[in-house]
Amino acid sequence: MIDTFLKEVIAYAAGKPAENITDILSVKKYVNEFLIAKKIGLTINQTRNILYKLSDSSLVSSIRKKDKKKGWYTYFWKIEALKSLEFLSQVLLKQIEQINNQINSRESKQFYICERCNIELAEEKALLYNFTCNECGEVFKIKENIKLLKDLKRNLERTKNKLSLVNNEIEKEKEKAEKQKFKENKKLDKEKAEETRKKRAANKKLKNKSQRDDSGEPSRGDHPKGRKIINKKSKKKKVVSKKPKKNKSAKHKLKIIKAKKRR
Ligand SMILES: [Zn+2]
Repeated sequence: MIDTFLKEVIAYAAGKPAENITDILSVKKYVNEFLIAKKIGLTINQTRNILYKLSDSSLVSSIRKKDKKKGWYTYFWKIEALKSLEFLSQVLLKQIEQINNQINSRESKQFYICERCNIELAEEKALLYNFTCNECGEVFKIKENIKLLKDLKRNLERTKNKLSLVNNEIEKEKEKAEKQKFKENKKLDKEKAEETRKKRAANKKLKNKSQRDDSGEPSRGDHPKGRKIINKKSKKKKVVSKKPKKNKSAKHKLKIIKAKKRR
């Protein structure tokens, strides 16, 4: 279903020769423009002209890759499914409006025809010519609108149905895009978490290394057990160095108390 719509919108936007491009272009992966040209049997310039026209309406997108040997860029193209469907939806809305206008005009106005010249005129104009053909002098006849109205109404229904199908496809594409975005965000979050984990690990390593350097202990390498032992030791050291300080201040206080008593 979607392929038919894409084909239609591409042909609408860039003309009949562009129609075959949809068979080669994909909505998933980018295709080399030289391959596209070869497959649709047009020159590279003709092919590019079509692709540029389509990209003006954002119906296709491209990436470029540099040829390392030749030093020039080659473009790769793909169809933007959602943008194309939205474009088609707009075209169909316009068509529906036009058909509605035609139906209103046929229902509210009288039309006249010259059967010999196959000319059709609205009432005001027919009145201007006094209901006589300017070309052959034949008297105008009233145009029967019944068949025409029937055709117009049938066309209106068909176009409306198509629009709802296109809108369905748009919803599907939007859902797909959302799922893709969710997937990408999840991946990004995972990458970020991994990065922070690595940074933390690196910081820890650096800290341990500086502690080892301070204590003058021989390096124990990256083994986590080795690090643990060093941490314990340095903790112990801290406690040991604090104790005498406390004792000192306690002794000091005692001295002061004793001195007060003496007085
Ligand atoms: Zn005539």
